[in-house]
Amino acid sequence: MEGQQRLAASKVLVVGAGGLGSPALLYLAAAGVGTLGVVDADVVETSNLQRQVIHGDADVGRLKTESAAEAVARVNPHVTVVRHDVRLDSSNALEILRDYDVVLDGTDNFPTRYLVGDACVLLGKPHVWGSIYRFDGQVSVWWAEHGPCYRCVFPDPPPPGAVPSCAEGGVLGVLCAAVGSVQVAETVKLLLGIGEPLVGRLLVHDALRMSWDALTVRKDPACPVCGESPTVTGLIDYPQFCGLPVAARDQSEAFDVPLIGASALATELASDAPPLVVDVRGPDERSIASIGGSVAIHLDEFRDGSAFEHDELASTGRRIVLHCKVGARSAEATRLALAAGYTDVSSLDGGVLAWVHDVDPTQPEY
Ligand SMILES: [Zn+2]
Repeated sequence: MEGQQRLAASKVLVVGAGGLGSPALLYLAAAGVGTLGVVDADVVETSNLQRQVIHGDADVGRLKTESAAEAVARVNPHVTVVRHDVRLDSSNALEILRDYDVVLDGTDNFPTRYLVGDACVLLGKPHVWGSIYRFDGQVSVWWAEHGPCYRCVFPDPPPPGAVPSCAEGGVLGVLCAAVGSVQVAETVKLLLGIGEPLVGRLLVHDALRMSWDALTVRKDPACPVCGESPTVTGLIDYPQFCGLPVAARDQSEAFDVPLIGASALATELASDAPPLVVDVRGPDERSIASIGGSVAIHLDEFRDGSAFEHDELASTGRRIVLHCKVGARSAEATRLALAAGYTDVSSLDGGVLAWVHDVDPTQPEY
């Protein structure tokens, strides 16, 4: 009775009503957590449904917070849901997080992850973090007062594009339940003050081996946000923090990426001087949807320079259009091509998804 009353008086903020947020919200509601905040500015898309089980097919096009709030009410009408239909950023994060006892982080991008991590340190909140990609998951509880924070263990963001999002790289849907349910277990333990929280331990899950390994992680005395002499004492510009490293920026960031729309590309392809279309994705993605006549040269080959030795690129006098799924990887490849001396190169705006949407709806989206 005492524990249940404590849960009813508790407030948990779930950041992201996506893959991890879906099981988290449903189980926290079922457990009787009295107030659930949910932050998300996105709408439900069909491609979300293989993993974001709090939303259904009929919810496509609706705000995720609205769909999630209804699902929570179906499970437990006594829960107060506070909807934050905004993109969390440095201007609003402290104000939003301040009211909650625990922050359950189900974000899918590095700028928001560092933002949530730093905000939790600054506010002294436990940060129940989970991350999933393809067949792998990671979970921990970052809590600067009792152990490491996110930055102690992951001080530097990966280069942009180096780690594709779940939307780009894919994820086994049920992995969200495996990792999200661990996050809920940790949250309930923290709210009740029972057991040993995952502070100072990083759980690493490999669904293909079906293994869970616990790594010991330690506080970094030199951590810029929770260390002995912190240099980050307020929220910073996280998109910039997670931007290109300086060395890479010197080489290629100087180039603006010329873009071409899918319909304009279709027109150019039908003309007397069609451009060479280069697909920088891998074969798995290419097998789902592709642009007829395109050649496949992977982004990695642009990164190591070998792309420019391919016959198609080495000898072409043609205009070149690079594409990926949505445009991020091809933008990087376009910058690299410009840096390598190519002058007539563009990136397909919106990637093959824009092509499927605007030009060839017979192919599937993914
Ligand atoms: Zn730290």
